[in-house]
Amino acid sequence: MTPSVAIVGGGYAGFAAAVTLARGGARVTLFEASRVLGGRARVVETDGQRVDNGQHILLGAYSETLRLLRLVGVRPSVLATRRLALVYPGHCELRAAALPAPLHLALGLLRARGLGTADKLAMLRLMRHLKRQRFRVAPDRSVGTLLTETAQTERLVRLVWEPLCVAALNTPVADASAQVFAHVLRDSLAGSASASDLLLPRVDLSELFPVPASRWLALRGHTVRIVEPVKAIQRDDTGFRLDGDPFPTCYDHVVIATAPYHVAALVTGLPGMRPVVTQIERLRHEPIVTAWLGFDGPVSFPEPMIGLSGGYGQWAFDRTALGGPTGLVSIVISASGLHQQLDRDALRDALVAELAAALGPLPRLAWSRLITEKRATFACTPGLERPTPRTPEPGLWLAGDYVASDYPATLESAVRSGVAAGRAILNACGLKESLF
Ligand SMILES: Cc1cc2nc3c(=O)[nH]c(=O)nc-3n(C[C@H](O)[C@H](O)[C@H](O)COP(=O)(O)OP(=O)(O)OC[C@H]3O[C@@H](n4cnc5c(N)ncnc54)[C@H](O)[C@@H]3O)c2cc1C
Repeated sequence: MTPSVAIVGGGYAGFAAAVTLARGGARVTLFEASRVLGGRARVVETDGQRVDNGQHILLGAYSETLRLLRLVGVRPSVLATRRLALVYPGHCELRAAALPAPLHLALGLLRARGLGTADKLAMLRLMRHLKRQRFRVAPDRSVGTLLTETAQTERLVRLVWEPLCVAALNTPVADASAQVFAHVLRDSLAGSASASDLLLPRVDLSELFPVPASRWLALRGHTVRIVEPVKAIQRDDTGFRLDGDPFPTCYDHVVIATAPYHVAALVTGLPGMRPVVTQIERLRHEPIVTAWLGFDGPVSFPEPMIGLSGGYGQWAFDRTALGGPTGLVSIVISASGLHQQLDRDALRDALVAELAAALGPLPRLAWSRLITEKRATFACTPGLERPTPRTPEPGLWLAGDYVASDYPATLESAVRSGVAAGRAILNACGLKESLF
């Protein structure tokens, strides 16, 4: 018999679960509360402009995300692929060479500008240390402790490790899990040469995966309902029912693919879920600010993505080079920090000044918008216990970037969790994902 599965949430995790289940022969209905698909990675319309709620970077190491993009027919050209380049204009430049791993980084490091011999040796020391430990770190270690224990230089910490840690884990180094950071380094810098590639979306984040996945599902007879918030999940002897389902249906399985802070309200009627809710409620969250700046003339970048140093901004992106209109720039500030003490206008002015310091004189600022995602991701701290896809309620599953995995909260962890939940359901039903 064909199992019927409801998925609550139309972000990257929900669609990864839906596509996996559909390929295994389940009947899928996905509910999304919002009009826009994508959740924390979605397009936002503002002042007639279409921008993302937050500038995102994907890595070549995002194997499951890339596999699912191919599966639902997304053209590879929607991602601009750049060899890893950490470029801080006027400060330092580290570019991976066009060679197989590990020579791509070894030569890149040898040729790096703005880093002294002591910095380069410190970087090698940290990578060798992690390799020797097979990228396993004591669970209570923070990235800050790891950097101190491996005698990293102040310059390397400021220009390389801190920005990489905050970008990947959205958590300041002093509080960030060294184990999860080690996993990120293992799969990117210590992986194949292409694993460290930066993949920058040329389309908006809804158009990158959720919208094509939704079309792919519809073409195969599955259902995606937008503006349909599920209020609660109920269970009886026959299966699950959803409060808010406009066509009340009984489902064999339900995947909760919402952000972690939306889970508790859905499961109040399911006492078995209490320990999971307690575990989820222990997660703390970190913000991300994206400033969208529209200049009335071209802005010249040495690379589509550059690092900013010494101020509030961390990374700046040349959106014109990524298919956007002339003069559009995005600047990202991950995690909590001093920028939170500024009002919006003061922060915008500070970011424009930092961009000018990095790139030289800029055209007039014609338009701007600061988007703050207050709970962008969970704080990826040492020893964190994350819930598993399987819950104590048989037939009820979790997917989302916060679900247990090697990765911090990223598109890749969201997708992996969706695939894992989908496969677990297929397995429980004696089904297998089709190879085609
Ligand atoms: C500003 C910002 C920048 C980021 N940068 C990066 C980056 O550079 N690289 C990277 O890999 N990751 C990045 N991330 C992280 C990444 O966006 C998230 O990890 C990922 O999008 C989480 O996906 P998800 O499917 O787990 O959850 P969500 O995206 O939160 O999806 C959950 C969905 O469930 C829906 N929902 C909630 N409640 C209900 C309900 N009751 N009924 C129906 N639907 C419901 C929501 O509307 C939402 O669409 C960033 C995140 C933010 C916010």
